[in-house]
Amino acid sequence: MNQVDYLRISLIDRCNFRCQYCMPEGTELDYILRQELLTHDELLTLLKEVFIPIGFRKFRLTGGEPLLRPGVVDLVRDIASLPETEDLAMTTNAFFLAQMAQDLYNGGLRRINISLDSLDPQTFDKIIGNRGRSRWEQTWEGIQAAHRVGFDPLKLNVVVIPGFNDREVLDLAALTLDRNWHVRFIEFMPIGNAALFGDRAWIPSEELRQRIRDKWGLVESQVRGNGPADVFQIPGAKGTLGFISQMSECFCDRCNRMRLSADGWLRPCLLNEMGQIDLKTSLRSGVNPSQLREQVGQLLQIKPEINFKQRDSGTGIGVYARTMSQIGG
Ligand code: SAM
Repeated sequence: MNQVDYLRISLIDRCNFRCQYCMPEGTELDYILRQELLTHDELLTLLKEVFIPIGFRKFRLTGGEPLLRPGVVDLVRDIASLPETEDLAMTTNAFFLAQMAQDLYNGGLRRINISLDSLDPQTFDKIIGNRGRSRWEQTWEGIQAAHRVGFDPLKLNVVVIPGFNDREVLDLAALTLDRNWHVRFIEFMPIGNAALFGDRAWIPSEELRQRIRDKWGLVESQVRGNGPADVFQIPGAKGTLGFISQMSECFCDRCNRMRLSADGWLRPCLLNEMGQIDLKTSLRSGVNPSQLREQVGQLLQIKPEINFKQRDSGTGIGVYARTMSQIGG
């Protein structure tokens, strides 16, 4: 196993989009009550007194939609200024990014991943559940703003849904030809919308790579991330293409992360729900940081076993209690 030093932190479970694969319209979600969210101070306490002392150095802010979290720029500033923070990144849908990109950058955020499932406004709106209002334009402006402000690398995440956006794979890949952007294709997982998953299922990354190879050729990239993506490049392109293949491949041996939900549950593995611990309740009931460190340390020890066990629950029939918006995607 890799050293586990990367924490993905969900700041909020709410989102202004209703992506079909994540929190589709009409789904009844039990939102976390405001008083159940980890506060700014609680989150910093957990980082400073629990996670950093046991070796976590890389943090990603996600959600739900992290830009909906009140005080997100202050949080960025406080986490970025911890001396031990080696990397601070964010995953966002970019809808509010145009007006926030500069403040986030000034606060110390340097890396940003943006979900962009389609270049076609109609398809985009269909995927994100536009509720009568087109959102593509403002999202694209957010992406441009992030680029102008200097976020580097700028990564675009595409969840490929057969019948929705799979015909755009070449157009999305073409974004990397003359831009230093990283487009990452993610296999659709059965978390969030089991019905759509059952209906349309997922496309193996290798099939997407073959389509791209047939058009331009494809080589393994020298630029490697530290995560689960297999990174390739169209020969001569400025940017790269990543493939995150959690359905067709097992990359548990490369897993370097845990996830902290907005209400303080620490989850050792995305693809199964074993072993989670409720840090917020412990913190609020006065359990001291050294005991919390011990609990998290124990979870780290058994993480390899948790990762490989029941991974099959992620391959088709497993029904997850929490969606990605609740876990922190
Ligand atoms: N709101 C932000 C955004 O849209 O990027 C951050 C949260 S969102 C849950 C983070 C990521 O989760 C998205 O980029 C999407 O790729 C991923 N995601 C959510 N549900 C998924 C699913 N069923 N299969 C694959 N990826 C999923």
